[in-house]
Amino acid sequence: MSFNTLGLAPALVRAVREQGYHAPTAIQAAAIPAILRGRDVLGLAQTGSGKTAAFALPLIQRVTEAEGQRQLRAIVLAPTRELAAQTGEVLRDLARTLPQRLKIAVAFGGVSINPQLMGLRGGCDLIVATPGRLLDLIEHNALRLSGVQSLVLDEADRLLDLGFADELNRILALLPSQRQNLFFSATFPAPVKSLAEGLLREPERIEIAPEPARSDAIRQRAIHVDQAQRTPLLRHLLKTEGWARLLVFVASRYAAEHVSDKLWAQGVRAAALHGELSQGARSKVLAALRTGDVQVLVATDVAARGLDIPELPAVLNYDLPRAAADYTHRIGRTGRAGESGVAVSFIPADAEAHFRLIEKRQGRRVPREQIPGFEAKVLASQAQAVGGIKGRRVSKKDKLRAEAAHKSGAVA
Ligand code: AMP
Repeated sequence: MSFNTLGLAPALVRAVREQGYHAPTAIQAAAIPAILRGRDVLGLAQTGSGKTAAFALPLIQRVTEAEGQRQLRAIVLAPTRELAAQTGEVLRDLARTLPQRLKIAVAFGGVSINPQLMGLRGGCDLIVATPGRLLDLIEHNALRLSGVQSLVLDEADRLLDLGFADELNRILALLPSQRQNLFFSATFPAPVKSLAEGLLREPERIEIAPEPARSDAIRQRAIHVDQAQRTPLLRHLLKTEGWARLLVFVASRYAAEHVSDKLWAQGVRAAALHGELSQGARSKVLAALRTGDVQVLVATDVAARGLDIPELPAVLNYDLPRAAADYTHRIGRTGRAGESGVAVSFIPADAEAHFRLIEKRQGRRVPREQIPGFEAKVLASQAQAVGGIKGRRVSKKDKLRAEAAHKSGAVA
């Protein structure tokens, strides 16, 4: 399959080549022709499937083919500012080779609205926005909606999770009723399904099963290590594994700051990413990771959601996520379309039971490892028996038993 056969304009085929994409991903092969034909689309696919380009390419083409003067033709709604910014970047990159210049606006909350209002003077062709800020802009009369021909809901499940249902309904009520709707979601629980059913007309349903392709590209590792040894082990792995970039997940804003400070003090180019950083600070940190000025990004789940960091060779769960779904989401940050990656989880004794649940959910066992010099001294059986007491010393006998169990492949 080639990008030439999907009905895309030559300039856009050139643009994907310049991005280094050789062949369309499954969702691109299915969605691009359908969107070009004007169909509604229900895309059940995760980040990493190539879904952004799957809607961005045909959307750009349809906007350029529209007749008449410049007006807002397409709206992409995204749940987070990071995703909005990234999607805007993808759209701009893909539109760069076009003979005519498209004006692509990006708008999100948490920053002053004034520059966004200024930027919209003279109109735009396409906007990527978070729902609340889009409504603000509409209230400021910065956008005219009468020419909108396509609406994209990206990560619709997250839009609902983050409580955007009211904003979405208000936006839908303001849009022309004759329009194309493109709906993308990684999961499809009842509320998302009913939103889709209310919105889509005879949609082309495209479902991309994430597991087989994605999990093959991601090698999972689980390392038994004591709580207190996690940062030293992290430093050791940075030295021995040769990861140019690493995304480390922690459980809290405090941990993000604490771990990145500790690494920084030890000469590692580390930075923290969490929800309480200003938008400017977040963008700076992400840019530094892209350029390589930052090697290790220590992040919370909320902050890392929807991020597209190219060429991420590894992610590391310093703390395990509470939900199994978040585990899948986290490890999916590496091994993106066409690349391979490794996902390492630190498993202190009192996290063993929780990790087994995660394994059960994903239907896949991950062999436990110990790294010489960083062997766990607390055993899972002890942690459970005593309610997860940390730092308790283990007898030599227990240690030998654990090692034997480990060697024989059993989980300690
Ligand atoms: P997405 O699912 O849209 O978040 O895309 C995930 C990653 O895949 C991004 O880093 C894209 O640049 C990359 N990508 C998208 N389409 C392709 C393609 N056809 N070939 C290779 N990489 C792609």
